[in-house]
Amino acid sequence: MGVKLPDHKTKIVCTIGPASHSETVLEELMGRGMNVARLNFAHGTVEGHREDIRRIRLVAAKLERSCMILADLPGPKIRVGKLQSEPIMLKKGDPVTLTTKDVPGTASRISVNYERLPESVTPGNVIFLNDGFIQLHVQEVSGTEVICEVVIGGPLLSHKGLNLPGVKLLVDPVTDSDLVFVEFCLQEGIDTFGVSFVEKADDIHKVRNFSRERGKSVHVVAKIERAEAVENIDEILDAADALMIARGDLGVQIPVEDVPAVQKKLIHKANLMGRPVITATQMLVSMTENIRPTRAEASDVANAILDGTDAVMLSEETAIGRYPVETVDMMARIASSIEREWKSLQTLSDLREYSRPRLGHQQTTPEDVISFNVVEAVRALDVRCVVTPTQNGSTPRRISRFRPDCWTLAFSRSEGIHRFLDLSYGVFPVLLGNDIEDSPGWIMKFIGESGLVIEDDTGISRKS
Ligand code: PGA
Ligand code: MN
Repeated sequence: MGVKLPDHKTKIVCTIGPASHSETVLEELMGRGMNVARLNFAHGTVEGHREDIRRIRLVAAKLERSCMILADLPGPKIRVGKLQSEPIMLKKGDPVTLTTKDVPGTASRISVNYERLPESVTPGNVIFLNDGFIQLHVQEVSGTEVICEVVIGGPLLSHKGLNLPGVKLLVDPVTDSDLVFVEFCLQEGIDTFGVSFVEKADDIHKVRNFSRERGKSVHVVAKIERAEAVENIDEILDAADALMIARGDLGVQIPVEDVPAVQKKLIHKANLMGRPVITATQMLVSMTENIRPTRAEASDVANAILDGTDAVMLSEETAIGRYPVETVDMMARIASSIEREWKSLQTLSDLREYSRPRLGHQQTTPEDVISFNVVEAVRALDVRCVVTPTQNGSTPRRISRFRPDCWTLAFSRSEGIHRFLDLSYGVFPVLLGNDIEDSPGWIMKFIGESGLVIEDDTGISRKS
């Protein structure tokens, strides 16, 4: 029997939902590269999931291939309740009360499914609704009511998520209803679970032990979506079989601008320990509506692969999107393209290593050698900044290409050179007036007065 290997080595996880329930769509998804079908227990019914499991297995058997099923447990996802009309508009400056009572929501009072909300928050806390698009400020807590002011308003739909960054949650990340789902899945022969809002290793142990007591050995994927999980990543990695960088909630629980670095660091750690890692959420989200992704999304998928992710995940794209099949196809094509280029990109990534053998070449300029050695020195010494007077900008640009940790102060007389240097990474251009002498003395005086360096800091200067 001949074996046909896929065009891409990166694994693709697809969330199954109304757009992908049917055998026809499942067959297409598997045909285009889906390796893992994710059942999101935050949505749908147990009966519906049972049907999905049956169809996924049927189609996999028909295609004579395997398809892992990942049962994703929702954990203590906090949500607003049902609203009276959809959407309601929350306006900046307006008061709004969150209540633990089950009432139809209006713009002035909205129910929340977290019983201990009033105990968890105090005046001054920030509450995010709808993935962070709406922001509330807690003013007062009274009994079952949390009185807030709308800081950033917007439209709100029923059952949207609520996030409390920096607030200690008074519920276990693995809830009783999660364990009911685990029990159901074990009976269905499923052995891979995603655990949401993981905080510590014990959350992973809980699912593993619960299964072990029922005679099953399972794989547990830790979903990293809280600041505590990022802090406790070492013990979590020890306990879990895999990681998911769950960027949706993570991007509200920690500042969204920190997500890229966290993604890279976690992937790196997981790689070192040989734990597979899934990068999740919004990878090709515009394809929920459109037949083609944005260029930024295509790059996001490729960059996650370069970061070292094992798998990339689709959520609403395949669960409720208009183009589930085209989305998987696009993901597979992006993966195979970047994988083909990987070797050449890796060589380029450490420019210093790349340029070292070229330094002996005839066309090597003094600036090349100088910049190389400056950067070596910056690495070896604790240098506060590099100082370089420059006529044409060539030396600071050559230093910049090696991305030293510290800033390069580039002193020039020409406004044109000065302006253009502002384009180079880590270069801080300083314009020398005509009346100012281009002397080391003046430059040292400037640096001293600037407050950029303090006495005893190491600096390296060179003229070009
Ligand atoms: P969710 O997890 O879709 O279950 O919320 C992924 C995420 O938060 O990114
Ligand atoms: Mn999540």
